[in-house]
Amino acid sequence: MANCNVSRSLIVQIAIPVPLQRLFDYLPPEQTDPQSIQPGMRVSVPFGKGLKTGVVLQLTSLSDSQIDPKKLRRIEQVVDSEALLSPKDLQLLKWASRYYHHPLGEVMATAFPAALRQGKPAILQRDYCYSLTEQGRQTIPMDLKRASKQQALLTLFQDKPFAIAATELTQHKTALKALQDKGLIHKTLGEDSKLAWKEQSAGLTPNPEQQHAIDSVVSGLGQFSVSLLQGVTGSGKTEVYMQIIAEALSRGLQILVLLPEITLTPQLEQRFRQRFAAPIVCFHSKFNDSQRLHAWLNMQQGHAAIMLGTRSALFTPLKNPGLIILDEEHDSSFKQQEGFRFSARDVAIARAKILNVPVLLGSATPSFESLFNVTRQRYQLLQLSIRAGNAADPVFQLLDIRNKPMQAGLSEALITAIRSTLDKGQQVLLFLNRRGFAPVQICHGCGWVSRCGRCDANMVIHAAERRLRCHHCGSEQPLPKECPACKTGELQPLGLGTERIEQTLAELFPNNAIIRLDKDTTQRKGSLEGYLEQIHSGQADIILGTQMLAKGHHFPDVTLVAILDIDSGLFSVDFHAGEKLAQMIVQVAGRAGRADKRGRVVLQTRQPQHPLLTTLIEKGYQAFAEIALQERRQAGLPPFGYQALLRVQGNNAESPQQFLQAAVSVLHALNAGKTQILGPVTAPMARRAGQFRFQLLLQSPQRKDLHQLLDQAMPKISKLRQAGKVRWSLDVDPVDL
Ligand code: ADP
Ligand code: ZN
Ligand code: ZN
Repeated sequence: MANCNVSRSLIVQIAIPVPLQRLFDYLPPEQTDPQSIQPGMRVSVPFGKGLKTGVVLQLTSLSDSQIDPKKLRRIEQVVDSEALLSPKDLQLLKWASRYYHHPLGEVMATAFPAALRQGKPAILQRDYCYSLTEQGRQTIPMDLKRASKQQALLTLFQDKPFAIAATELTQHKTALKALQDKGLIHKTLGEDSKLAWKEQSAGLTPNPEQQHAIDSVVSGLGQFSVSLLQGVTGSGKTEVYMQIIAEALSRGLQILVLLPEITLTPQLEQRFRQRFAAPIVCFHSKFNDSQRLHAWLNMQQGHAAIMLGTRSALFTPLKNPGLIILDEEHDSSFKQQEGFRFSARDVAIARAKILNVPVLLGSATPSFESLFNVTRQRYQLLQLSIRAGNAADPVFQLLDIRNKPMQAGLSEALITAIRSTLDKGQQVLLFLNRRGFAPVQICHGCGWVSRCGRCDANMVIHAAERRLRCHHCGSEQPLPKECPACKTGELQPLGLGTERIEQTLAELFPNNAIIRLDKDTTQRKGSLEGYLEQIHSGQADIILGTQMLAKGHHFPDVTLVAILDIDSGLFSVDFHAGEKLAQMIVQVAGRAGRADKRGRVVLQTRQPQHPLLTTLIEKGYQAFAEIALQERRQAGLPPFGYQALLRVQGNNAESPQQFLQAAVSVLHALNAGKTQILGPVTAPMARRAGQFRFQLLLQSPQRKDLHQLLDQAMPKISKLRQAGKVRWSLDVDPVDL
C-alpha cells in the first residue's frame, strides 16, 4: 500500500520535442515502481491526439506540479531500462537550451540519432569480428597461390594485432569466406573492445613544437582546458592529434573528433585505423539511421574508443570521456543554421567544462574569437610554425587587373603564368566561389534579367543541363531560347561561374586535363573521391573549383594557385566578411606546395591597394586578425559585444514587421538600457523561397545583460499574438547577419 502512495504522489517531468520552452508533467505508468524511472530515460507519452517520445528530466512530488492533478495524463511506456543520457549529458542539454533559448525537448532531440528519437529500442547489435587463428598467424600470405585477394586480406589481418569488425570487411566477402574455410581466420563476437586500446603503429618523432603541444594537452588530461593548435596544412596537426589520442586511449579514455565536412572523414578515418588498435566509429549524415544508432550506442556504452563525426556528433554520450578535438575550428559549418542554431565549437567547450576534459581546437586560420580568447588567456595557443618536410610558405601576388584585357575572368598575365606552370609539368589550382555557367542571364535587347520569382536573387545559368536554377530556393526552369520580355533581343550570360571558366580553360589548354570540383560535379556518391584520386595520381593539370577546395585537401603538386575574383568579397555589409575572406585566401593558398616546389598564389583584383588585401599579404593572418579585432573593439562588435538576432519570415511583408514591432515593445519595456535594439530591418535577402524576411538585432557589451534581457523577453515574445502568423527563430551569437 505504501508503495502505491509513493507512486501516486510522484510526477515525472519530461522534455518533449515540441516548439515550447517548458517541461511536461506526467504520472508514472500504472504498475510501475516510480523509483525505476530515471532522468535520461526515454518515455512514450500521450501528447495531443498521438504519442510522442520524450526524455525524463526529473521526478518531483505532485504538489510541485502546476497542472490540476485530475488533468495529468500517464506515461504510456518507459522505453529504456537504463538512462541513455547521463546527468552530465542532461546538464549540458539544459545549459544549451537556456543559452540558445531553444526548447529543451528539441535540443534533446538533437542529441539522439533518428532511430532513438523515433522511440526505437536502444539495442546495440554487436559486431561480429574476425581474427586470425594460430594457423593464420603462421601462414605466409605468399603461400596462398593464385589468390591475390586472399593474400591481401591475410596481410591485413597480420598487420593488425586485433580482431576486425565484419562491417569493415564488407568489400572482402569472398576472400573472407575462403580464409575462413581454410581455417586461417575465425569469427568472434565483438571481441575487439575487450582488448586494450592502444597505438599499433608508432608515431613519428615530433618536432619541438609538436612535442610541446602534445605534452601540454596530455598533461592536462582529466581536467578542463581549451587549447588552440594553430598550424598551416602540412604542419603536423593531425600527427599531434594522434599522439595525444594514443595517450588518452592507453588510459582507456574515449575521444570525440569533430570535422566540418563529411568529405574529410574518410581520409582521417583511414589514418586513424592504420594507427590505432581501437574501435573507431563515424557519425555523419551520409550514414543511414541504423549505422548512426550503432555508432552512437557504441560510444554511449563504452565499446568504441573514437568517434569521428560532423557537428551532429557533438552530443553523443561518452562513457569514459577523455578529449574533444575540433579540427578546422574556424569553419562556418560548425554553426547550425536552422532550428536549434548552436555553435558546435562553443557547445563543445561547454561540454568539456562539464565533463572536465580538455578541448583541442585546430586550424591554420583560427576564428578571430578564438584568437581573442588566447589574448585573454582563456585558451592556450599552441603553434606549429614549420611545415613538415620544410615546405616553404607560398609567395603571394596581388595581380592588378584594372583595364587589362580578360578572357572569361582570366587576365593575360594569369594565363601566361598558368601556361608556364603547366609547361613545367606542375599542377595549377584555380578558385572561384561561384558554381554554374554564369550567375545571371541578361537580354542584350531590353535588359531583362533571369530573376527568381520567389527570391531576391538571380537564376544561375547551368549551361550543360540547359537550365536556369536558383541557388537559394532550388527553383528551376529550362534555359529560355528567346527573351521572355521582348522576344527578339539576344540572351547573353553575365558574369562568371566555374562551368564557364572550365569551358574557357578547355579552349585555352586543349591538351591539359582539367578537373572541376563543385557541388554540381561532385553530387554523385564517390565522385569527389574519384577526382581527388585523379589529382593525387597526377592525372589532372588544372584543378578548378569552389570553396570545396578551401577545405582540408592537400594537393602537393600544385605550385600555382589563383583566386579569380577576390573583389566581390571586399564589400560585404556583414562584419564577419573580412575574417571569412582572409580565412578563405589563406586556406586556398595552403593547398599548394611542398619542399622542392615553392607555391605561388595569385589574387586577381581591381583593388590592389585595399587594406584588407595588403595587410593580409604583407603582414600575415595574425596581424590581419589583430587589426580587425581592434576595429571590432571600437565598434563594440563581437567578441567585444554580444549579439542575438531575431529572424522572422512570413507569407507577406506585413506580418513579420508587425511581429517584430511587438517584440521591440516587449524588449524596450524590459531593457535596462544596456542592450541596443537595432531594427527591425529587412534581411540581407529580403525575400527567399517566397517568404518575406525581416530581422531585429540585439547587441550588448556584456553577455550577462543580453541574456538577462532574453531570459525575460523570450517567453513573452513567443506568446505574442502576432507570432502565430509568422515563422521566427532566435539566433544567439549569429555568424551571418
Ligand atoms: P596537418 O594535419 O597539419 O595538415 P599532418 O599531421 O597531416 O599535418 O602532417 C603533414 C605531413 O607531415 C604528413 O605526411 C605527416 O606524416 C608528416 N609529419 C607530421 N609530423 C611529422 C614529424 N614530426 N616528422 C616527420 N613527418 C611528419
Ligand atoms: Zn529582351
Ligand atoms: Zn529562388
